[in-house]
Amino acid sequence: MKVLVINCGSSSLKYQLIDMTDENVLAKGLVERIGIEGSKITHKANGKKAVIEQPMENHKVALGLVMEALLNEEHGAIKSTDEINAVGHRVVHGGEKFATSVIIDDEVIKVMEECSDLAPLHNPPNITGIRACQELMPNTPMVGVFDTAFHQTMPEQAYIYPLPYELYEKYAVRRYGFHGTSHKYVAERAAAILGKDMKDLRIITCHLGNGASVAAVKNGECVDTSMGLTPLEGLAMGTRCGDIDPAIIPFIMEKEGLDIAGINNLVNKKSGVLGISGVSSDFRDIEGEAEKGNKRAQLALDIFAYRVRKYIGSYAAAMGGVDAVVFTAGLGENSAMTRADICKGLEFIGIKVDADKNNIRGEEKVVSTDDASVKVLVVPTNEELMIARDTKKLV
Ligand code: AMP
Repeated sequence: MKVLVINCGSSSLKYQLIDMTDENVLAKGLVERIGIEGSKITHKANGKKAVIEQPMENHKVALGLVMEALLNEEHGAIKSTDEINAVGHRVVHGGEKFATSVIIDDEVIKVMEECSDLAPLHNPPNITGIRACQELMPNTPMVGVFDTAFHQTMPEQAYIYPLPYELYEKYAVRRYGFHGTSHKYVAERAAAILGKDMKDLRIITCHLGNGASVAAVKNGECVDTSMGLTPLEGLAMGTRCGDIDPAIIPFIMEKEGLDIAGINNLVNKKSGVLGISGVSSDFRDIEGEAEKGNKRAQLALDIFAYRVRKYIGSYAAAMGGVDAVVFTAGLGENSAMTRADICKGLEFIGIKVDADKNNIRGEEKVVSTDDASVKVLVVPTNEELMIARDTKKLV
């Protein structure tokens, strides 16, 4: 069985074609600048790479060209679109309706549209991608895999905000959490690497990329996570502020004369480690500047690590202890320094990183010292594989 995994952004589209008999990636690629001048597909299959540069006015045109690339005699991976048995779509917000992945039908799309209110930047392009695929492959089953689904097991005490309760009843204002597919994947892998059942473990998963979140996974279920109604809450991120005093919002709006769009832009696009350092949202640039003695770059790194450390401490408290801490995503997988900084000072709960073991990038490994009571692991995430597995299971 071959599954095409689609992750549609507003102007981008990532795809992977996976053979589910052995979970081998047959082809993968990235489409950039859809609907903007300079549209481009970077496609890889069979050890070959192709760059396709031509105008793509919308997602349907882009997907049509992706299909052509997949069918191409030289750099393709299939002979007919009939070989694609199912399509798995990443959908960011499933609201309270979707606690698991689902086969997509008209009713499911309607509910996804209702959730668009909660993720206006993400859900509309996800739905556009689904519709484009349905037009190109009308007889192929489609599955929706939600970033929020894994977190639906959180208890009320974790997801209800201390606001008037009617706001939850009227508008579904609550904590949802994101990166769920990634948190679930790395928690499962961590249990497998440790040779334990997830049901016997308390795991804290740290997805640290440009967007970053932490989840507390107790006995195989998510019991808390740092992102909230939207992906803005929680850790300091590349450009997002994470947890701040909510009173700062009206204060700055008044002082700077900002409207809602202006303040949204400030907290989502200009804050986080970019805002603190004034250097970049990319941790590689910030680490480089910090090494040269840039104090604000160092401060950004310190604040980032301090806040992850605080979440680890609070989730250990939330679960009555912790057995494993897992690092994943761009920064979590690649930056030994960040992992070491975060864990510094957590020895009191049994977290101790071994400097030699930790000196790795992008591989699955236990990096804690042999005598540490809490295992620290690096697990590269694989959301695409998770989506493909769910798709296979449902189809
Ligand atoms: P992601 O959103 O998971 O793709 O992660 C992207 C982020 O990971 C980038 O913004 C970088 O800050 C960070 N990153 C990737 N590679 C490294 C590295 N070698 N060292 C430090 N940070 C890295």
